[in-house]
Amino acid sequence: MTTPFQSVSSDTEATGQRPRVLVAGGGAAGLMAAGQAALAGAEVIILEKMDRPGRKLRITGKGRCNLTNVAPLSEFLGHFGATGPFLRQTFHRFFTDELLVFFRELGLEMVFERGGRVFPASGKAPEVVAVLLDWLHRCGVIVRTGVTVDRLIIDNGAVAGVICGGEVIDCTALILATGGASYPLTGSTGDGYRLAKQAGHRIVPIRPALVPLVTGGDWAASAAGLQLRNIRVDLFIDGKKRTEAFGELAFMEFGLSGPVILTLSGRVVDALADGRKVHLVLDLKPALDDKKLDTRLIRDLEQRSQEPLASMLRGLVPKELVTIALAATGLNGERLAGTLRSEERRRLRHWLKNWRLPIVGHRPLAEAIVTAGGVDTREVDPRTLASRLVRGLYFAGEVLDLQADTGGYNLQAAFSTGWLAGRTAGATAARTKQRPQG
Ligand SMILES: Cc1cc2nc3c(=O)[nH]c(=O)nc-3n(C[C@H](O)[C@H](O)[C@H](O)COP(=O)(O)OP(=O)(O)OC[C@H]3O[C@@H](n4cnc5c(N)ncnc54)[C@H](O)[C@@H]3O)c2cc1C
Repeated sequence: MTTPFQSVSSDTEATGQRPRVLVAGGGAAGLMAAGQAALAGAEVIILEKMDRPGRKLRITGKGRCNLTNVAPLSEFLGHFGATGPFLRQTFHRFFTDELLVFFRELGLEMVFERGGRVFPASGKAPEVVAVLLDWLHRCGVIVRTGVTVDRLIIDNGAVAGVICGGEVIDCTALILATGGASYPLTGSTGDGYRLAKQAGHRIVPIRPALVPLVTGGDWAASAAGLQLRNIRVDLFIDGKKRTEAFGELAFMEFGLSGPVILTLSGRVVDALADGRKVHLVLDLKPALDDKKLDTRLIRDLEQRSQEPLASMLRGLVPKELVTIALAATGLNGERLAGTLRSEERRRLRHWLKNWRLPIVGHRPLAEAIVTAGGVDTREVDPRTLASRLVRGLYFAGEVLDLQADTGGYNLQAAFSTGWLAGRTAGATAARTKQRPQG
C-alpha cells in the first residue's frame, strides 16, 4: 500500500516532461483523483465551477460525513444493486481499509458507529475537505475555482483539452468527476452527462435515488417532524410485496423520509415511473409478534381502563400518531379504554403492525441524496475507468451509473473510483507524453 504522498512513478521526472491531467469537478471523486494523478507524475489542475471545492462533501451525513462503511466486500457491493459488479475491480485496488489508512495518514481521526458507518471523530464534514485540500496542496495540484468546463476538445479520438467560458485549456488526459444532478446548489447540476454525451457516451436515464416519498391523504402534515427508530417497512408494488427495510423513519409535511424510506425509494421511483401502484406497510411494533402485542394491549387496556382511549394510546405510540391511529381504526378517542371490544382491539393491533400508506409520488431530483443513472458503465473499462470510446478520457464518482444505499457506500465509491481514475490517468498520460511523436 502506498502512502498518501508516495510518488508512484518517477519516469516523468526523469524526462522533465510533465503531462497535464485536468480534473473536471472538485468533489469527493475529483479531489482524490487529482492527488493520485499528481503522485503518478502528472501536472494536475482541478477545474471546479463553484467558488470552492467539496461543497457537497461539506454537507454529507448531516454535516458529519459518513465517509465509508466497514461492511465486507460482498455485502458492500450488494448495497449498489445492479450497479455493484462494475465496482469490483476498483474495490480490489482501493477499498475501505485503504481509505481508512489514507485518511489516518492525513491526520484525520475517525470513529466507527452502528451499522459499520465511519465518520470523522470531530463530527465535522468540512474537516474532511480541509485535509484533502491540504494534501492536494502538498502534492502540487492546482485548484482553480469558479471555472466551468463547458465543452471537451476531442481530436482524432483523443481528448486534447476543454473549453471553459472563452478559455481553452489543453491536456493529455481528462477525468470527468462532475457528480450527479441532485442538490444543484452544491454545483452538481448534471453537466457531466452532457459532456460525456459530447464524447459519444450513452447516458442511462437519470432519476432520483435516495429520495423522500410523497404519501396520499392529508395525514402526513399532522405528524411532520416526528422521527421513529426501529420501524419495519414493507414495499408493495401492484399489491405484491417486493422487499422490506428496517430502521429510522421521519415524517415530513408531504410524507416520509429517513434512512429506511431512502433505502426503498429507488424501487419506488422506478415503479411509479412505470405507472404502477405503490404502497408501504409500516410495522410500528416489529419487536412484538401479534400474540405479544395482543397481550400488551390487553394489559394496557385493563390498567388504564378508566382513561379515554386517546390517552391510553399515548402510552403505545407517539402523541403525533394518536389522532391518526384513531382515524385509521375508526375508534372514538373519548371512549373509556376499558370499553374496547375484542374486535376493536384486534383492529388496533392490526393497524399498529400493518399501517398501510399509499405512495403517490417522490420529491424531485434536486432533493435526492444521489442521482441514479449516468454514464453507462459498459462503455467504461472497469480496470482503469478509461472511456472505451475516447482516449485520455476517464470517469470517477457519481457521474457514472452507480448508486448505493445510505451508509457511507456512495462516498467510498467516489473516493475509490477517484483513486483508480487518478492513478491510471496520471500513469497513462505520462506514457503518452513520452512516446516519440511522428
Ligand atoms: C445531503 C447529502 C448528504 C449525503 N451524505 C452522504 C454520506 O454521509 N455518505 C455517503 O457515502 N454519501 C453521501 N451523500 C452522497 C455523496 O455526497 C455523493 O455520492 C458524492 O459526493 C459524489 O461525489 P462526486 O465527487 O462524484 O460528486 P460531487 O461531490 O457532487 O462533486 C462534483 C463536483 O463537480 C463540480 N462540477 C459540476 N459540473 C462542473 C463543470 N461543468 N465544471 C467544473 N466543475 C463542475 C461540482 O461543483 C462539484 O463540486 C450525500 C449526498 C447529499 C446530497
